[in-house]
Amino acid sequence: MRNFSIFERFSKAFQDHPSLTRILVVSTISGGGLIAYSEANTSYGANGAAVVETGTRKKKVVLLGTGWAGTSFLKNLNNSQYEVQIISPRNYFAFTPLLPSVTCGTVEARSVVEPIRNIGRKNVDTSYLEAECFKIDPASKKVYCRSKQGLSSNGKKEFSVDYDYLVIATGAQSNTFNIPGVEENCHFLKEVEDAQRIRKTVIDSFEKASLPELSDEERKRILHFVVVGGGPTGVEFAAELHDFVTEDLVSLYPRAKGSVRITLLEAADHILTMFDKRITEFAEEKFSRDGIDVKLGSMVTKVNEKDISAKTKGGEVSSIPYGMIVWSTGIGTRPVIKDFMKQIGQGNRRALATDEWLRVEGTDNIYALGDCATINQRKVMEDVSAIFSKADKDKSGTLTLKEFQEAMDDICVRYPQVELYLKSKRMRGIADLLKEAETDDVSKKNIELKIEEFKSALSQVDSQVKFLPATAQVAAQQGAYLAKCFDRMEDCEKNPEGPIRMRGEGRHRFRPFRYRHLGQFAPLGGEQTAAQLPGDWVSIGQSSQWLWYSVYASKQVSWRTRVLVVSDWMRRFIFGRDSSSI
Ligand code: FAD
Ligand code: MG
Repeated sequence: MRNFSIFERFSKAFQDHPSLTRILVVSTISGGGLIAYSEANTSYGANGAAVVETGTRKKKVVLLGTGWAGTSFLKNLNNSQYEVQIISPRNYFAFTPLLPSVTCGTVEARSVVEPIRNIGRKNVDTSYLEAECFKIDPASKKVYCRSKQGLSSNGKKEFSVDYDYLVIATGAQSNTFNIPGVEENCHFLKEVEDAQRIRKTVIDSFEKASLPELSDEERKRILHFVVVGGGPTGVEFAAELHDFVTEDLVSLYPRAKGSVRITLLEAADHILTMFDKRITEFAEEKFSRDGIDVKLGSMVTKVNEKDISAKTKGGEVSSIPYGMIVWSTGIGTRPVIKDFMKQIGQGNRRALATDEWLRVEGTDNIYALGDCATINQRKVMEDVSAIFSKADKDKSGTLTLKEFQEAMDDICVRYPQVELYLKSKRMRGIADLLKEAETDDVSKKNIELKIEEFKSALSQVDSQVKFLPATAQVAAQQGAYLAKCFDRMEDCEKNPEGPIRMRGEGRHRFRPFRYRHLGQFAPLGGEQTAAQLPGDWVSIGQSSQWLWYSVYASKQVSWRTRVLVVSDWMRRFIFGRDSSSI
C-alpha cells in the first residue's frame, strides 16, 4: 500500500525529528483503494484461508461495498490471478470526512465522490454491479443481491453471484437506538445524499422563516437547529453550520437575525471524548463563545414533529421546539450483516468478528473489514500454556531467560497487547516484566521460569487489548493490508512470513494486521481546527486548519477530486457559500 510504504521508509527519520515527522506522516496519508481478484483451483491452507494455485481459472473475488475499505482493497490489489466482482448500491466512492462541508456548500457534493469505475485498477479484471446484497450464503458460496435499478440483466430484480473469496466491506448504518421518532423526524449524516438534503433543508428553513405573518415564536422554532451527538461528526457539522449562518446567511436574511439558534445535545459529560482533554476543553469554550448551546448530560428520549424531548442526568425531562435535527450518535449493524452473523453463530455481537488476518471467524474464505467488522484480538492468557511449551525449546519444563527472549518477538507480533503493555508500564523488556511479576532474581542469567511464573509475568498484558475505532483511517489500512495478502497468497504459502503458530505447527502465512494511527482532526469552525497527532501531540488553531487543508487535499482518491475540492475551498474564500435552494 502506497502510504504504508512511505511511512515505513520515513519512520526512522521521523523518530529522529518528532515534530516534523508527525506533520509529514499525516500529510502522506492517503485514502482509498480498489479491487481485484480471480483464479482457478482452490485448496485450503492449514490456517483456513484459501490458497491460490496457479491454474486455469481466475479466482473470483466478490467485494461488497465501495466505501473506504472496499476502495482501498481495490486500489491496492495487483495480481492478475484474480477477477473482482464489485457489488454495491453506490457506484462511487465518497470522501466522508468532507461530508460536513457538503452540508453547508463549503464543498460541492460532486467534488467528494469518484465513480468506482474510474478508480485505478492495476493488473486485475474488475466489474461492477449496482446492487445491494441482502443475503450471504457461506454454505453454497453465494451472495444474493437486489438491483437498485429495478431489473437486472436477466429481467429479474434479484440475482445471485458465486464467489471463491468474499470480501465484506459494507460499512455500518446510523444508529437510532430505537428512540421513538428519530427515524421519521431527524436527518442523518452518513451518505452524500444526506448532506445534500441537510443543505437544502437549512436554506429552506431560512426561506420559511422569512415569510410574512409568522409569529416570532414560530420563526425562532424554524431557525432552531439541533445536533444530537457530540462526536467528531456532530461537532464538525455544528461548527460548519455556525460559520454558514454567521458568514453568509445572516446578511442575506435580515429577518432571521437574532432568531437563529444552534443546540448540541450530548449524553456524556463532554463533547469529543475520544480526543485529548485539551481539545475537548477548547472546543467547549469555543462553542460557548460562538453562542452554540452545548447541553451536556442530555439524553434524547423522544422526537416529535416539532419538538424534541431530552432527559438530564437528574431525571428532569424538557421538551425543546426545533426546526431541524441532525442525528449523529454513532453506528449500528446493517440488516444483511446481522443476518449473516446469526448464520455463523455470532448473533449476539455488534459487528462481524474477524481474526487478526481479517478472516471472519467461523468461515474459511470470507473476509470483513472497515466499519462492519471488528478484530477479535486473541488473548495471551487463552494460549499461555501453548506459548510456554513452544518457547521451551529443550522441553525441560522450564524457560530460561534466553528461551523467553527468543520467543518474545513472535509473541509480540501475534499478541500486540504485549508490546502495548510494556510501553504503558514504561518497561524496556522481559526483565522488567519478570521483575513486576516478582519472579526470583531476574538479573541472574541462569534463571529458570516455571509455568506459573510465566503466567504471572503475562497475566496483566491482556488489559491492553484495544478495539480499533470505526474510522476511514482504519478501513483504508485494512483494505490495503488485505490486498497485499491476496497478492502474495501463493508466495506466502510457500514462505510464510507470519509469527510461529502457538497452537499448531509452522508459521502463519502473513503477519497479522497492525493499525498505525496517524492522528485525527476536529475542525471547530472559524478557521480553527484541533489536531491530535501520534505521541499525544496536540495543536489547536489556524495552523492546524492549514494542516487540515493540506492533509485532506492529499488524501483525495484522485487528482480530479483533489482539484475540485481545492477549487471549492478557493471559491468559498472569494465568493462565500452559495445559498440557492437546489
Ligand atoms: P463505508 O465507507 O460506509 O462504505 C460502505 C460501502 O458499502 C458503501 O459503498 C455502501 O454503499 C456499501 N453497502 C452498504 N450496504 C451494502 C450491501 N447490502 N451490499 C453491498 N454494498 C453495500 N473517519 C475518519 O477516519 N476521519 C474522518 O474525518 C471521518 N469523518 C467522517 C465524517 C462523516 C460525516 C462520516 C459519516 C464518517 C466519517 N468518518 C471519518 C468515518 C468513516 O467514514 C468510516 O469509518 C468509513 O467510511 C468506513 O469505511 P467502510 O468502507 O467500512 O464503510
Ligand atoms: Mg527450557
